[in-house]
Amino acid sequence: MALINDFLSLIYPRYCEACEENLFKHEDLLCNKCLLTLPKGRYHLQTHNELELLFAGRIPTISVMSLFVYQKCGRVQKILHAIKYQQQKELARFAGKLFAGENEIKNTLSGVDFVLPIPLHKNKLKVRGYNQSQLFAEGICNTLNIPIDTGSLSRVKETSTQTKKRKYQRWENVEGIFEVANPTKLEGKHVLLVDDVITTGATLEAAWQALKHCSDIKISIASIAFAGKLI
Ligand SMILES: [Zn+2]
Repeated sequence: MALINDFLSLIYPRYCEACEENLFKHEDLLCNKCLLTLPKGRYHLQTHNELELLFAGRIPTISVMSLFVYQKCGRVQKILHAIKYQQQKELARFAGKLFAGENEIKNTLSGVDFVLPIPLHKNKLKVRGYNQSQLFAEGICNTLNIPIDTGSLSRVKETSTQTKKRKYQRWENVEGIFEVANPTKLEGKHVLLVDDVITTGATLEAAWQALKHCSDIKISIASIAFAGKLI
């Protein structure tokens, strides 16, 4: 079997999804160098950090965390691109596993009752075939044995691409796009809301507009990457 694997890697070399260097036999998806040197989002280790402040006055959060810091043209952007546009589903789950494997994250998530991935609109889901935030959430849930909830929150409005819009326009664009199916299920629960990338935080805030009707709900937030500064 090892011989076959060696032979296959000669014909189909495997590359690191972040730096595009060849992977060694014992490596999978990301090379060891990237695992050690990718810009980690260590925001949860610092109070009043940039990520926490992004949601201040908008969502009452318990913790806000991100696996990576997003840098344009960097390795994290390559990872996100592979997850979103190149069907790299395993990489999204692996990111969840990496995130949940960090000791401080594990402690922070110990009181979480449900993990809720930000849903895609059904038309977008049909085109892409999967929801990358859900796969990231699955990686977290499988590692820490927390139940995933993909039924409570739904995206009822389709939004156009947001990348070229100005901040206030984005905000208007996501108002009222989510609905909660069964608010009693989440009453008094600590919910980890999971998104792939956090930029302005508008999508998560829109989700909060729907979730806040569940009485005494507690919210934490996690993402694969946050477009902020390294700390
Ligand atoms: Zn690499």
